[in-house]
Amino acid sequence: MSKVLVLATRNPGKVREFQTLLGPLGYKVITAAQAGYDAEPEETGDTFRANAEIKARAVFEGTGGKYPVLSDDSGLAVDALGGAPGVWSARYAGPGCTDDDNNKKLLRELQAVTEPVEPPGFYDELNESYPDRTARYQIALCLIEPGREPVFFEAACEGLIGFEERGGGGFGYDVLFIPTGADGRPLDGRTFAEMSAEEKHPLSHRGKAVKALVEFLRFSV
Ligand code: IMP
Repeated sequence: MSKVLVLATRNPGKVREFQTLLGPLGYKVITAAQAGYDAEPEETGDTFRANAEIKARAVFEGTGGKYPVLSDDSGLAVDALGGAPGVWSARYAGPGCTDDDNNKKLLRELQAVTEPVEPPGFYDELNESYPDRTARYQIALCLIEPGREPVFFEAACEGLIGFEERGGGGFGYDVLFIPTGADGRPLDGRTFAEMSAEEKHPLSHRGKAVKALVEFLRFSV
């Protein structure tokens, strides 16, 4: 018999993604609404971990503590902006804003505090690191199982913020985010939005955190 796992999200895309990953381990992934909890807890934490815990606890308590609950909280931290947009990533440009509004605001804010002109070879030569433009995606997953303390899986993905939007894939800030390697240099100069999901997943913060979660669930009894 499959074990139910409640995902603290309203996003059907996330449910599909987690069902694909956790189905083979014997889990049936359902949304909080399907488990009888239809509210949206306010994300008042100032870290991804705190917000992930707020969401997981609200859904765990709201569904009577019967099922394991998994939540995630993620965002982009840009060094030259003191870590902004951070936990405000989804709502950076204000209430009801779109990904496009957020990306335009990010470019404007960065331009105001860093060298506004694209250095030669920023995308093409791939032989430099650019401390002005460093950033990372961060994520925290929080798993609460009945009778157990919450467990967290946190991961990051380092990169640079481009000077213009490139690519049509991904979501959020992917059109601006160029993943980098351990040496701080772009992997191949493409943004996440120029990569397929299969290329992005093993590099991304979410891919790494989910891998750690899957390992944990595989060995937990
Ligand atoms: P949440 O985790 O659903 O609250 O979303 C956080 C926000 O961070 C998203 O709306 C995006 O703006 C941004 N974000 C998080 N992960 C990614 C990613 O993999 N690509 C692009 N944007 C991301």
